[in-house]
Amino acid sequence: MGPVTSVLLPNYVRAPIAFERGEGAWLVARGGERYLDFGAGVAVNALGHAHPHLVAALTEQASKVWHVSNLYEIPEGERLGQRLVDATFADIAFFCNSGAEANEAAIKMARKYHAAGGHPERFRIITFEGAFHGRTLATIAAGGQQKYIEGFGPKVDGFDQVPAGDMAALEAAITPETAALMIEPIQGEGGVRVVPAAELRHLRALCDRHGLLLIMDEVQTGVGRTGRLFAHEWSGVTPDIMSAAKGIGGGFPLGVCLATKEAARGMVPGSHGTTFGGNPLAMAVGNAVLDIVLAPGFLDHVNRVALVLKQKLASLRDRHPQVVLEIRGEGLMLGLKLGVPNTEFAAAARAEHLLAIPAGDNVVRLLPPLIVSEDEVAQAVERLEAAAAQLDGGLRGAAE
Ligand SMILES: *Cc1c(COP(=O)(O)O)cnc(C)c1O
Repeated sequence: MGPVTSVLLPNYVRAPIAFERGEGAWLVARGGERYLDFGAGVAVNALGHAHPHLVAALTEQASKVWHVSNLYEIPEGERLGQRLVDATFADIAFFCNSGAEANEAAIKMARKYHAAGGHPERFRIITFEGAFHGRTLATIAAGGQQKYIEGFGPKVDGFDQVPAGDMAALEAAITPETAALMIEPIQGEGGVRVVPAAELRHLRALCDRHGLLLIMDEVQTGVGRTGRLFAHEWSGVTPDIMSAAKGIGGGFPLGVCLATKEAARGMVPGSHGTTFGGNPLAMAVGNAVLDIVLAPGFLDHVNRVALVLKQKLASLRDRHPQVVLEIRGEGLMLGLKLGVPNTEFAAAARAEHLLAIPAGDNVVRLLPPLIVSEDEVAQAVERLEAAAAQLDGGLRGAAE
C-alpha cells in the first residue's frame, strides 16, 4: 500500500506501488514483484531501465562536470545539436528540460519570426481539439482542454482551436493574425489518434500559402517511438519548428526545440533562455540515447516488434470485441480503444503485472521501451488477454 497521507501536492492520483529498480522492459516493485513496463514512464524510458550505455554515459559525465550554465560553451551540447540537425529537417537546436518548455520555445519562436519580419500582429497559433502540449499557462491554452484551463485565471491569449480533421474549419480559422499551426502527428494524451498523412500534407500546403509556420509537437511521438526517428517522416511532410522531449533523454529530463534557420530568425541573443537547459549531464545522456537509436538496424527492430505487437493485439480484439473495440497507432505507440472504462482496464492489466497508461477517448496506451523483445511482447499480450477476459466476464455477467 502507498502512504495514507503524503506531503506531496495531491495533483496526481498515484497507484499504490513503488518501484525500486528496473532492467530493460521490467520494473521491480519494493516487494520484489516484477512488472512488464508497457508505459515506459509515459514514453520516456525509450531504452528501458538501467540501460548500461546510458548508465555509463551519465556516471562518466557525473564525475567530470554537472553544470556550468549557458554562459559558456558546452561541447556535449554542440555535438548533440549537430547530430539532431544532421538527422532532421532542422538547422538549429535549443535545449531545455521538458516537453512543455520545448513547446514554449516553439510558440515564442513562431511569434518572434513574424515580429522580426515586421508583423508583430501575427501571433495567433491554431491548434487542434484533443491536443496536449503541456501544463504551463501558454501550453494549456494551446491544448485547449477545459479541465486543464479552468481556475487558473485568464487564459493566455493567442490560441485558436479547430476540430481535428476539419479542413474547412481550419481554413476559416486562418486570419491575418495567424502565425502558425501546431499539431501532434499522433495525439498522445488525446487517445493515440493518428493524423493521416494526407492531412499533414494539406496543413503544409496551407502554411506555405498563408506564410504560416508549421510546428510539430513530437514530444511523445519522437525519437524512434513510431518506427521512424520522428513520426512526421512517415508523411514526408517537414515542419518548420519541432519540439521533442520524453524519449530523448531516456529518463533524464531533456527537451529540445528544433527549427530551420529561417523559422528561428527572430531568436537573437537574449531573446530566450533557461538555467538548466542543455546542461552537461543531460547532453551526455542525450548523446548516448542517439548512439543507440541512430545505430543501423535499431529502427528496424522497433518496426519488427511493433508489427508483431499489432498483429497480436488485433487477434486479442477479435477474441474480446466487447472489451477491445479498436487498435490504433504507429510503431510502439499503440492505443486500445475500449468498451470498458480505460482506468479499469489499466488496473486489471496492472493486477496481471503489466503497466499500461490510460489516455483520452477511453483509450489505454501501450508505449513499451523501444528495446522490448518479441518474447516480451508475447508475454504482454498474454497479460492483456487475462485482463480482457476478466473484464469480458464482467460484461457478460452484467448482461445476464
Ligand atoms: C508529454 C507531452 C508534453 C508535455 O511534456 P512535459 O515534459 O510533461 O512538459 C507536450 N506535448 C506532448 C505531445 C506530450 O505528450
